[in-house]
Amino acid sequence: IDEAEADLRDLMNIPDNYDVLLVQGGASTQFEAVPLNLLKKGRADYIVTGNFAKKAYKEAQKYGDVRVAASSEDKNFTYIPDFDDSSFRSDIDYVHCTSNNTIYGSRMRKFPSVETLVCDMSSNILSEVYDVNKFGVIYAGAQKNVAPAGVVILIVREDLLGHELPITPKVMNFAKLAEADSMLNTPNCFGIYVAGLTFKWIKAQGGVAALEKVNIEKAKLLYDYLDESKLFKGTVVPKDRSLMNVPFVTDSDDLNAKFIAEAKANGFVNLKGHRTVGGMRASIYNAMPVEGVEKLVDFMKEFEANN
Ligand SMILES: *Cc1c(COP(=O)(O)O)cnc(C)c1O
Repeated sequence: IDEAEADLRDLMNIPDNYDVLLVQGGASTQFEAVPLNLLKKGRADYIVTGNFAKKAYKEAQKYGDVRVAASSEDKNFTYIPDFDDSSFRSDIDYVHCTSNNTIYGSRMRKFPSVETLVCDMSSNILSEVYDVNKFGVIYAGAQKNVAPAGVVILIVREDLLGHELPITPKVMNFAKLAEADSMLNTPNCFGIYVAGLTFKWIKAQGGVAALEKVNIEKAKLLYDYLDESKLFKGTVVPKDRSLMNVPFVTDSDDLNAKFIAEAKANGFVNLKGHRTVGGMRASIYNAMPVEGVEKLVDFMKEFEANN
């Protein structure tokens, strides 16, 4: 656990005034833990950019005066909404955002400059370089880019520790978890072990900046093809497109189904989009090599020619 933490600190350039915790549960556990630990004045603003962002907002509402500051739900989360300093109340404990929207395939490129910004990075942590100093709390369920489900990376600025609501369960208490070096109860040993291996793998690739370059290349291959295709099109506005999750559709549900079936028969699995978006979604996390995306684009071109 010490080695995993040290490697993660190196990879993300995490400053000394942040605690790095490797805790149990999923990102969804943090939808509750964040308000429980941070709502000392009782108010928070949420940027709602997708399914998980909305869930985080709904859970937080149980614990205080929690408001939506900006949302893209009006257009089925196909873009990142605009915001500026005036979008947020001045007397709040934090602003919550989601850096990458897994189901809808959008990604935040600009972040609010507020004192305490909380970010759910579950689906793009370690895929591009972030300045940790801009955030008060970063959390990420491990299962997209890091390790099997069940372990969460939790990075907390130290001044935020020790202000939890009295009802906060001890196992969710950031200060107590930090004090116990993430070993307040039996930690997810195997998840942490695999996370440690992944951190070493990322180091061997040249670090997060090197992976970011590859991720941009992978995403560009797919988006360039989607933009020139007469059959397929991307569903997210170009400036807000994700590097990790690429949703796309044809004009016909029948053709979408035919594509998914033929893709599967050719070894391209898990391409069916989430039911709220329909169509297809290619998830191209850190573990997907460039060749995987090249092969998919070749297959899509062939399908387009035949249909
Ligand atoms: C997958 C995901 C979650 C949910 O993670 P669990 O570990 O299943 O709770 C939350 N937020 C984002 C952005 C995700 O991609």
